[in-house]
Amino acid sequence: MTERRVLVVEDERTIAESVAARLRAEGFGVRIAGDGPSAVNAAREMRPDLVVLDIMLPGFDGLEVCRRIQAERPVPVLMLTARDDENDLLVGLAVGADDYLTKPFSLRELAARVHALLRRFERAAAAARDDAPTIRLGDLEINQAERRVRRAGVEAHLTPTEFDLLVHLAGRPRTVLPRTQLLADVWGWADECSTRTVDSHVKALRRKLGGDLIRTVHGVGYALEVRQ
Ligand code: CA
Repeated sequence: MTERRVLVVEDERTIAESVAARLRAEGFGVRIAGDGPSAVNAAREMRPDLVVLDIMLPGFDGLEVCRRIQAERPVPVLMLTARDDENDLLVGLAVGADDYLTKPFSLRELAARVHALLRRFERAAAAARDDAPTIRLGDLEINQAERRVRRAGVEAHLTPTEFDLLVHLAGRPRTVLPRTQLLADVWGWADECSTRTVDSHVKALRRKLGGDLIRTVHGVGYALEVRQ
């Protein structure tokens, strides 16, 4: 198996270096970038398999970094946030981060999240190779082999997590799927405190595919609605 590469974007040197050391010990090739512009350049050059991204950065911030690198090439992003910055978190998930960790975090937890995210993306890539069928529901078309989505003929650009969530909802249309179940099935971890991750990704799907596509069942979860 080729070495998997992680880009660590963090301007606090001690944090960046301890994260990098831990990930190298886990067998990853690691590169560190300390500001927004160099993070975007590094992502372009090294084509990382995953990005660990701090929000507070010199140059431009991690949210802008996330927007720019996701626009060029979808890649899983684990975002690092300050303790009470709910707003940063919601914006981060909306611009394409897949998971987040709140500072201060343990290196063990960070490594576990990195492995879980990569497993999820590798599983999705393997599924895409297996001639997975194209799903057609009303005016929604999900080409799983190419990981492309169109609604009413218009292509939408989804992040890998948004795509996986949509496929999951489309697998059981009109069925209400609880948020905790979506979190376990799509993200691969069961933490009831983190269901707002699901909410943010649903919000992003509605923004990209239309507000009527996914119905909220308050206190329960979400269902994909099909318009014929
Ligand atoms: Ca920072």
